[in-house]
Amino acid sequence: MAITRAECQALDARDPLRDVRDEFALPPGIVYLLGNSLGALPRRTPERVARTVETEWGVHMGASWNTAGWWDLPESTGDRIAPLIGAGPGQVLAGDSTSVNIFKAVTGALPLRPGRRVVVSDLDNFPTDRYVVQGAVAALGSYEIRDIGSGAGLAGLEDALGDDVALVLLSQVDYRTGALRDMAAVTRQVHEAGAIMIWDLCHSAGAVPVEVGEADLAVGCTYKYLNGGPGAPAYIYVAPRHQEAVRNVISGWHGHAAPFAFEPDYRPATGVRRFATGSPPVLSYAALNASLDIWERVDLREVRAKSQAMTSLFIELVDDAGTDLVLATPRDPERRGSQVSYRHPDGYPVVRALADRGVVGDFREPDVMRFGFAPLYLRYVDAYDAATALAEVLREDLWRDERYARRLTVT
Ligand SMILES: *Cc1c(COP(=O)(O)O)cnc(C)c1O
Repeated sequence: MAITRAECQALDARDPLRDVRDEFALPPGIVYLLGNSLGALPRRTPERVARTVETEWGVHMGASWNTAGWWDLPESTGDRIAPLIGAGPGQVLAGDSTSVNIFKAVTGALPLRPGRRVVVSDLDNFPTDRYVVQGAVAALGSYEIRDIGSGAGLAGLEDALGDDVALVLLSQVDYRTGALRDMAAVTRQVHEAGAIMIWDLCHSAGAVPVEVGEADLAVGCTYKYLNGGPGAPAYIYVAPRHQEAVRNVISGWHGHAAPFAFEPDYRPATGVRRFATGSPPVLSYAALNASLDIWERVDLREVRAKSQAMTSLFIELVDDAGTDLVLATPRDPERRGSQVSYRHPDGYPVVRALADRGVVGDFREPDVMRFGFAPLYLRYVDAYDAATALAEVLREDLWRDERYARRLTVT
């Protein structure tokens, strides 16, 4: 192999992020390459959640809406997410799921382009993005969806754009292949066609230093690279120029201008707060904020440099092993997020056999094995061990064991 395990250990010793790993509670003997799906548990999260339960809820009870800042959690947490996506204070609201935020963003933004009736959607996007657009269009009536083809680059998008297009919704990083879109270039192209650009940042925030730039709206989740925990609040970004014009269709009391006036009619709050709807899941915000404490201390350029180095190392090692895997991720590190995907007709049993050897990745239909590299807690030696185990599972046909063939509910 091109690089030895000892050389990987030397890289770890020089890694400027090496101490950040200690902030995470990682089970022994596991190489966790699923941080792109559910991030690892920060060591301080349990005590933070326990404090919220035992003290804020158990002792101060309802007073905590004021004294512990519960009421303001969507904004205060959003302000802490903002630097991770290149946004400023008052531009990001944390809450709901990504799916719900996509609905709010799409239905809120469409009226900004009266007369235009087309929503451009990507066939390769994460299914919920497509499903929610389909639901929003069905609910609003008189809009239609124009799908861009598989893997369409800027040229494919150009063909779909026209003076009938109101809005384009795309993911910055493809959840299957890890391919990274040029956000600034795409946003410019969409704006030149007069349409609104909404970005889904689920696979990019925490994986690459995101710059929302000229984007109109953006959404993302916090349980992947951001390590907020299962079901952690998602977020929505609204560019300041749109904040007073965009309406939240799910106009609940938490987004009202004077929620405790208990007026009979809805009046939107100013700013991004109007995107709040109902009572926030306070315990989940506690977990997310424990994770954001870590993000506040790391340099995103170092995260990106380590992510590119680790994914390149993994690709080189798998290349050297001479397997029949087909790389689905761009080789150019500038064109990928923080995951490496391979196509293999028996990808599912291969992933299961790997998990039995302590290397945890996942599988996405029809034939994609995904390996996420979360730079905060993974080491170069983990990339080495994962590549070695993958090569062994394939070389020795270990995946052919019949117990790996049966699909579990979550793949
Ligand atoms: C993970 C992911 C989601 C998740 O949506 P939820 O509503 O949180 O389940 C949505 N879109 C993309 C692109 C994702 O990667």
